[in-house]
Amino acid sequence: MFRPTVTAQDLQPSPEEQERLAQGGLVRIPMETGLNVGPVNITLVLGPKPALIDTALHCSNNLEQLEEALKPYNLSLESIEEIWLTHPHIDHFGLTGAIIERSGAQTYSLALGAYRFDDYLSFWHTDRQAFHDHVQQHGGPPDILGGILSAASTYHKVSSPFTIDHKLEPNQPVQIAGRYEVIPLHTPGHTPWCTSFWFPETKMLVAGDALRQKMRFNMILYTAEDVSQEHQGLACFQDSLRLLEETPAEWVIPGHGVSFSNHQKTIRHALKRQSKRCDLMENTLEDSGPMSAYEMAIHMYNKSITEDALLLVMSDTIALLEWLHHNERIERFTNEEVFHYKLP
Ligand SMILES: [Zn+2]
Repeated sequence: MFRPTVTAQDLQPSPEEQERLAQGGLVRIPMETGLNVGPVNITLVLGPKPALIDTALHCSNNLEQLEEALKPYNLSLESIEEIWLTHPHIDHFGLTGAIIERSGAQTYSLALGAYRFDDYLSFWHTDRQAFHDHVQQHGGPPDILGGILSAASTYHKVSSPFTIDHKLEPNQPVQIAGRYEVIPLHTPGHTPWCTSFWFPETKMLVAGDALRQKMRFNMILYTAEDVSQEHQGLACFQDSLRLLEETPAEWVIPGHGVSFSNHQKTIRHALKRQSKRCDLMENTLEDSGPMSAYEMAIHMYNKSITEDALLLVMSDTIALLEWLHHNERIERFTNEEVFHYKLP
């Protein structure tokens, strides 16, 4: 069984971080997920209409933990009036329905991805099937493919249904918590719907999963029919990172991990690493000849391809190879119904 090496307790904000965030009326609350990704952050926005950005999963005693974390601010679950969501991944929104039940809070998300929250359960099988077909097309072997389809959905155990009340447009300022102006930035890459919340008055950025301090694999490709390719791929992710680089944030709260400053350095580092990986893939094709994305992934990240990491590693590898292909640095051809890549 998987045991997270880092607990929510380990990731509690230090007194310095707490003080820094308090200047912008924000509180970072790390919560357990029981998933490989480790704890996830809820951000409390203090004001006349107390708001949460993201809500973690409905697992273990998270509802009680959240209630405990609200107490120092004289708040209870019933006091929460707004819930703002960064992206439709279960570790970020699973507790939403349970909080609404207690508080009647209103929900907010980018209009583009609202339907994914409203119908989250129905997308489990279509996403899974689409991922299966995608990995098959990129050379995944039968045992791996079987595992993708047989993975059971835990969605109904760790979340309950809700709908989005307020649909946001990118770059349109709105008020949050009855107190601050917030600008939703559309920052796709991790998912096509990712949103970062920029607080221009306090120079705080609640980034969701668009920006993390240590970004190893971040892109997840969606190939189901409802999802356009417009907001996916490496070029799109790089545009999002550049948009965040230009945002003059002094302090960033990521979806996972502690808050940090100097996010421009983090972004430059991530962009450099991606370009190095692309070069490495090109060199590998030169040395080893034509390869499928699966063979490339095994070659580059052998140890990382456990079943849990498959989605991330394959998405990342395919995104990089497709970017090289799009930029005419490599060619793609089909051999026995599997995509292969080679040098021109
Ligand atoms: Zn996440």
